[in-house]
Amino acid sequence: RLRANPARGTGMIILDSLTKRYGDFTAVAGIDLEIGEAQIFGLLGPNGAGKTTTLRMIAGILRPDSGRVLVAGHDNVLDPVEARKLLGFVPDRPFVYDKLTGAELLRFSAGLYGLTGPEVETRVDELLELWDLAPWKDQLVESYSHGMRQKLILSSALIHRPRVLVVDEPMVGLDPRSAWLLKDVLRTFAEGGGTALVSTHTLELAESLCDRLAVIDKGKVVASGSIEDLRREARSETAGLEEIFLKITRGATDSEIARVVGD
Ligand code: ATP
Repeated sequence: RLRANPARGTGMIILDSLTKRYGDFTAVAGIDLEIGEAQIFGLLGPNGAGKTTTLRMIAGILRPDSGRVLVAGHDNVLDPVEARKLLGFVPDRPFVYDKLTGAELLRFSAGLYGLTGPEVETRVDELLELWDLAPWKDQLVESYSHGMRQKLILSSALIHRPRVLVVDEPMVGLDPRSAWLLKDVLRTFAEGGGTALVSTHTLELAESLCDRLAVIDKGKVVASGSIEDLRREARSETAGLEEIFLKITRGATDSEIARVVGD
């Protein structure tokens, strides 16, 4: 069962009854999802919905209790080396070796994929240029700001030219220019045939960036499709994503909020 069953489609990322429990608590409760090439796909959901847990299972750093993840047909538990080669992952709270310089960190990441030599140097330079980090190439990461670190981690996730890029909460800590740059990078990545998967609870970001979305709540997909599909789901022709999101995830009503914090 190393390859995707063609009957299940040809998605770059396929989640098949994906499930994760922490003790008695089910954080991800049987997610089925298929994400194709050449698109930015958003995983949207309230706090605690299971977004990070899902992304960590896709990246292969958390093992599902049941179900499976296929990356371009490779089961990431049975065939982890192939699956990881195709994938770049940016966690929400990345760990960075502070005592390396930016360039050293990127060379180290390249080494993890077996990449060495002059091509790596060219790739390191081009990525640092892309994110305006070239002047800090040989500075220790400990002197980088939060946003600079975020951009370095994005560079490290792209170093091996993955076909799938998974980013948990991409915009956190980025200034407007860097946020614009990241959107542009994700768009270019998708236009070049890549599959970008991002998690967010920023509705504006989901609406402006993502081609397709899945809304997850309590570990389950409660709606998926394009914004238009979600509008239909919420039975509204004109609703913005915020209204749709609140309808679908059924958050606290105004009267409930007033009871807790109102006069
Ligand atoms: P947020 O938007 O707040 O980051 P999320 O959608 O990314 O939320 P997860 O981080 O996947 O949500 O967490 C899903 C649920 O699983 C939460 O209820 C969380 O408390 C729980 N959970 C996550 N990690 C663990 C863990 N290591 N041990 C126990 N429970 C956990």
